[in-house]
Amino acid sequence: MKIGFNEANDRFCKDHTVMKDLELCEKYGFEGIDIQSMCLDRDLESGKITLEELADWFKNHNVKMLSYNALEHFNMKQTQEEKDEVMAKFDEILRRCLILGCDTIVVVPSENIGVEATISEIREEAVAVLRQMLAKCEPHGIRLSLEFCGAPGMSINRFEDAYAIVQEINSPLVGITLDQYHFHGMASSWESLEKADGKKIFIWHLNGTEDVPCGAAYNTDEKRLWPGDPKDCLDHKRFADTLKKIGYAGDYCIIEIFRPEYYELSQEENVKKSAEVTKAHVEKYWG
Ligand code: ZN
Repeated sequence: MKIGFNEANDRFCKDHTVMKDLELCEKYGFEGIDIQSMCLDRDLESGKITLEELADWFKNHNVKMLSYNALEHFNMKQTQEEKDEVMAKFDEILRRCLILGCDTIVVVPSENIGVEATISEIREEAVAVLRQMLAKCEPHGIRLSLEFCGAPGMSINRFEDAYAIVQEINSPLVGITLDQYHFHGMASSWESLEKADGKKIFIWHLNGTEDVPCGAAYNTDEKRLWPGDPKDCLDHKRFADTLKKIGYAGDYCIIEIFRPEYYELSQEENVKKSAEVTKAHVEKYWG
């Protein structure tokens, strides 16, 4: 199992830059990175980096860009104008991925959609939108990885609902991002995960979380923790055993935490600590 770093971990650390993340990931032994769109946009807009410079770095180093993280709020748009806006964002992300040599785009559902849609209506709509996107990235072999988000207002908020969408599309280029915090956040079904095909899970986001109630307004990404923290309530052995059993083929364990406390570390301390806990986790459960 290789280890990867998601820029959620340190994106608000003082003087954060994407280039520093790349260098620190290499220094502390990460073999891959999820680039956060917020970090990339910020550095591109301020002129700190160009896409070509980043592409050049990836070509000359052994850290892989694991995903473009992410196209947010891709589904359930109500007006043509909103739908066109999502597709324009997607086109731009695809263009960037082709420059960066990144083969996976994470897509995140819309939140508080404003219509009282059923799960099957949401599924059918997501299938249609993702098929349109797939038609654009298929010629390049670029994959779409749907990340369900475990919050009550999220339109796709359980593993089983996301998996049904991916199954219906039935393409080797469309799969799931399984984030442990999100899986726990709305009590996704272990039975569904145990029955799933591990090859459909493209990305695995590792984290711990505080033991707060499912669906509570304060159960947000900020409750994430280093896995194995004394306050962490997740059943990491069960996640690992299940992923092994179903044949998770993503190769990477990617740490992704959004905890404000951890943004108080320096960027280097954050990446160093992230690498330590990810290595320890992989050794303990996958060694
Ligand atoms: Zn995630």
